[in-house]
Amino acid sequence: MNTNSLLILGSNSAIPNIHRFTTSQIININGINNLIDCGEGAQIRMQSKGVKINSIDNIYISHLHGDHFFGLAGLISTMNMQSRHQPLHIYCPDKLKEIIEMQLEASLTELQFECSYTLTDPNESRLITKAQDFEVYSVPLSHRIPTTGFFFKSTMRNKPFRYAFISDTIYKPDIIPVIKDATIIYHEATFTEEFRKQAIEKFHSTAKDAANIAKMTNAERLLIGHFSKRFNDTSVLVNEAKEVFENTIAIEDEMEIAL
Ligand SMILES: [Zn+2]
Repeated sequence: MNTNSLLILGSNSAIPNIHRFTTSQIININGINNLIDCGEGAQIRMQSKGVKINSIDNIYISHLHGDHFFGLAGLISTMNMQSRHQPLHIYCPDKLKEIIEMQLEASLTELQFECSYTLTDPNESRLITKAQDFEVYSVPLSHRIPTTGFFFKSTMRNKPFRYAFISDTIYKPDIIPVIKDATIIYHEATFTEEFRKQAIEKFHSTAKDAANIAKMTNAERLLIGHFSKRFNDTSVLVNEAKEVFENTIAIEDEMEIAL
């Protein structure tokens, strides 16, 4: 993948299908690959896009619904089989460390590299990564289980993009002060307004909700994804969002977006 770009590995909600795997993305910032969520099959999409498994430097997991992390144990196992030695850092909710370690232990897998974990706080935005060319802040969201988004801020003078990854959440305008100045926002859009009742019951957002967040943040671009399986054609979601925020696109697996 190209430097300073976003690669979509999975764009669906809940259940993967051959066209849309579940949520996973890679953001490359000046050569550093950050994996955001890791749905089933993320490593398959990486293979088909020619991204080396061991080129992943950091992993950010938003929450512990399976469609956002069931690919992680397999990915870590492949990293080990491909002789990874460089450390791996995972930013994640409480309990993920135990889940992964139990899977590795049950299969008598001993990692040949250091795997460390930083727990995210679902209630408060925190600076969780300070790297040479970027910073990452957690973004508290409101979902059925503890969930955070992630706000990647490039600190390079020539490439000052700021990418907000807003994972599963009910409409939550109080994230706006946290992600203000975002140039590009990914926001889940599981439903359209027609299904607002279901969105509220399931702590998800509509396409219009996503567009309102992008508008109030003054973002340049909005990406929507995590679509309910009832939408075979995503244009209905995109059109709803565009009524509020024109520069909206629906993400698709293997799409690469320059930042
Ligand atoms: Zn979820």
